Amino acid sequence: MLFGLPPMGNQLSIPKINQIDDHYDVVIVGAGIVGAGIFRDLSLHGLKCLLIDKKDFGSQTSQSSSKMLHGGIRYLENFDFGLIWEALHEKNLWLKLAPHLCYEDAFYLPVFKESAKPLWMLKIGLFIYDLLSGFQNTAHRLLGKKATKLEIPSIKEDGLKGAGIYYDAIMDDVKLTLEVIYDGLQEAHAQALNYVELERFTNKDTINDLQLKDCITGTRRTITCLQTVMALGPFADNFLMSQPNIPWSPKLYPSKGSHLWINKSVIDIKHPMVLNTIDGRVIFVIPRNNAILVGTTELETKEDFFDMSPSKFEIQYLLDSLNEYFPNKNINHTHILSNFSGIRPLVQDENSRGESLKRTSRVHHNYQPFSNLHIILGGKYTTFRVMGQEISRTIVQSFNKVFNSSLTKRPLRQRSIVLPFDNLKKDLTSMDLENIIQKEHVRTLEDLKIRRLGLRNSGHWNFSSSFEELYSNVSEEIKSNLIEAEFK
Ligand SMILES: Cc1cc2nc3c(=O)[nH]c(=O)nc-3n(C[C@H](O)[C@H](O)[C@H](O)COP(=O)(O)OP(=O)(O)OC[C@H]3O[C@@H](n4cnc5c(N)ncnc54)[C@H](O)[C@@H]3O)c2cc1C
Repeated sequence: MLFGLPPMGNQLSIPKINQIDDHYDVVIVGAGIVGAGIFRDLSLHGLKCLLIDKKDFGSQTSQSSSKMLHGGIRYLENFDFGLIWEALHEKNLWLKLAPHLCYEDAFYLPVFKESAKPLWMLKIGLFIYDLLSGFQNTAHRLLGKKATKLEIPSIKEDGLKGAGIYYDAIMDDVKLTLEVIYDGLQEAHAQALNYVELERFTNKDTINDLQLKDCITGTRRTITCLQTVMALGPFADNFLMSQPNIPWSPKLYPSKGSHLWINKSVIDIKHPMVLNTIDGRVIFVIPRNNAILVGTTELETKEDFFDMSPSKFEIQYLLDSLNEYFPNKNINHTHILSNFSGIRPLVQDENSRGESLKRTSRVHHNYQPFSNLHIILGGKYTTFRVMGQEISRTIVQSFNKVFNSSLTKRPLRQRSIVLPFDNLKKDLTSMDLENIIQKEHVRTLEDLKIRRLGLRNSGHWNFSSSFEELYSNVSEEIKSNLIEAEFK
């Protein structure tokens, strides 16, 4: 962890549901990365915007990704060249706009005798990948068996032929979502509320009525707006089907993906690896600070999509896949620091119907049941900025303003107090915690620990003083604003 610049935000006190206005130009519902991106774009265009989420900002799918800004090397197989081109360009843009939240790294793709693609074929794929980035990616390389063994000493030797190396980016998904929101909040006419749920939507011709509920205090409030955007990710079908006033039929393929954080000392890798499993899936193994991220699975599910965690089966599947590639390491449950799961918001369309989940396209879809209700589904994290532009353009133009697609190419203006990438032990003070609570929209202890500090459990803690020690010195007045019990 490392410290950012002190926040420059203009909103030192966080608004409450009873302090917001009765009317907005636009209300954006859902503060995952997609809603956050649209909120920032519209705020930068001078519209009076409100962003709400029934949980903490970025606390659902957008904190449960594989944490890569990437073109999607595996989509080469589907010939999704347009999507890869767009994603690679977005990845390279964010490396410039938010270098404190993402960095480029070499991804190693080992090839074995039984691999579906031999090294020569991989070389062609990696060349196309670099080409689609407009050669902005650091150029790919190939390694022979000896060089691969030298760089990854514990990798399975049996049948090893070599490895391909290509370049993608590692990011902190929740911090990027939060900072996109903080950036939108730099505009005087923009507001954002976490733990505020949209309960009921009613379209009254040119005006929309929104019944909101503060999920912590239970306070209800109805407000109006001219335009509404719903960026509900995988929760869209469930919410929209519950609304008698919105014509809707289910459109999502819910696909659950799970990850483990394991102890870094277990495997001697310095860079991310891409492993092909026996059943044709891809597992990413990504070292970061003092841990290694391992994921992901892909499973159809009927569980409740909020606040998910991996099943025993998924955990075992990930451990088995790792042990297959690192046979002498005996990686087991004792090496797991923490885990998490999320649902990919994949859209079922004419082209993807009947396809397996791993082949279903990651393109996004927009729907407009009323002229002033916009629903966005699908897509991937990497392309959030461009995904939302179609809706932003329509809305900006409906206010007789000129849409400028380059406004969102500006660097983010408010940094988080604690930043994600640093191996060194750092000092954190109780005053830093007080600042975070007051300036970074913290409403529960979990918001503070997991999303603002990156503390899923003590294995992830990188500061010299313990959290308990620091928190005990936070002033009682500031603590009294926080819900300390586990809040669901
Ligand atoms: C396992 C996995 C790995 C992935 N890895 C990558 C990756 O490495 N790179 C990449 O580019 N993409 C990746 N993706 C895809 C990416 O994470 C998602 O496309 C993206 O995070 C979706 O963001 P979202 O804003 O649409 O959804 P969410 O982040 O889920 O946001 C939707 C929000 O709506 C809120 N909400 C729901 N109902 C209401 C209501 N009634 N009122 C108010 N708020 C409500 C929810 O609380 C939630 O916060 C991955 C996805 C998964 C599942």
